[in-house]
Amino acid sequence: MAYALNDKIKNLVPYEPISGTYEIRLDANECPENYPPEILSQVQRVVSETAFNRYPDPMASGLIQAFSDFYGVDPSLVTAGNGADELIFLIETAFLKKGDRLLVALPDFSMYQFYSSICEVSCISLEKQADLTIQADQILEAARKNQVQMIIFSNPCNPTGQGMKAEDVRRLIKSTDALVVLDEAYMDFWDQSLLSEAHTYDNLIILRTASKVAGSAALRLGFAVANRRITDALRGVKSPYNVNSISQEIGRVLYQNKEYLRKRQKKIVTAREKLYNDLLEIGKTVSGFYVYPSVANFVFVKTPDAKALFDYLKTKSVVIRYMGDYVRITAGTPAENETVCRYIRNYFAGK
Ligand SMILES: *Cc1c(COP(=O)(O)O)cnc(C)c1O
Repeated sequence: MAYALNDKIKNLVPYEPISGTYEIRLDANECPENYPPEILSQVQRVVSETAFNRYPDPMASGLIQAFSDFYGVDPSLVTAGNGADELIFLIETAFLKKGDRLLVALPDFSMYQFYSSICEVSCISLEKQADLTIQADQILEAARKNQVQMIIFSNPCNPTGQGMKAEDVRRLIKSTDALVVLDEAYMDFWDQSLLSEAHTYDNLIILRTASKVAGSAALRLGFAVANRRITDALRGVKSPYNVNSISQEIGRVLYQNKEYLRKRQKKIVTAREKLYNDLLEIGKTVSGFYVYPSVANFVFVKTPDAKALFDYLKTKSVVIRYMGDYVRITAGTPAENETVCRYIRNYFAGK
């Protein structure tokens, strides 16, 4: 007798981010700087006060309270997760049944599709237009035609950097019976959030993360905001101790530092605008180098040189994200952004 892995998992390979040490990392849309000293000292205090022998608070109350204060939402409608990633998996597992249909519009965050196969859900994908935008009506039409139970998309979108206006997202949600999972991982860099009205919809879950603007990818903190009925279901289905005590406490401290977060938000948006403009300049002299508008903390570029450019930058100890005919460049510090643009210019000058 031999044990066989089932079809869902037999060909899976572990997710491998770019390994190695690089001086400049602009590949994962992280925040470019670690916590400043005044936050670090608060972090050290809460870590030293942690009761390591005790299980965490299953409802992450202190963390959720601080998150809710910062964003102006009702804490009783927020569920915390071990990263937004965990919540995506949980939502697809719990709110869909085997054989149900999930709609995505590509390109978008790859994990949506990845988890659907493990959930035995059929993932229907829609191609975005040539300019990489997507209209609410296109999504609605595909949702109707395919009778999907769930629609999931990121807004602003990773990797395209583009966004759908709040009024269009509202219309989308109101025009379907499917559950809409609206991943606002990058909404800290734009102003079209539906967070404050999440509870008014029958069929909406909004996702947020501490990994981007809050500079806390290491903590693995994500949040789902929805109406009472959906929140109860989500809290009911999650594993009880999904967010560890240290992450809960550090996250609480962070969201209490509202001024710091707002400043960081502005800094990153300024850096992204500068990076966007510099890349746009490069595009004026390099054929086929097209820079997409961005409302996130990264810039998406189409270029036939994507792979060669990625390889060249690596030799300069700079990593960006390479995806077929595209590269995605995270807005780093102003100095990092200047460096990467200088190398990109050098690359094209030397061709
Ligand atoms: C980064 C990102 C997330 C957040 O993931 P975490 O698990 O919270 O780090 C979610 N959705 C998208 C589209 C992202 O790019």
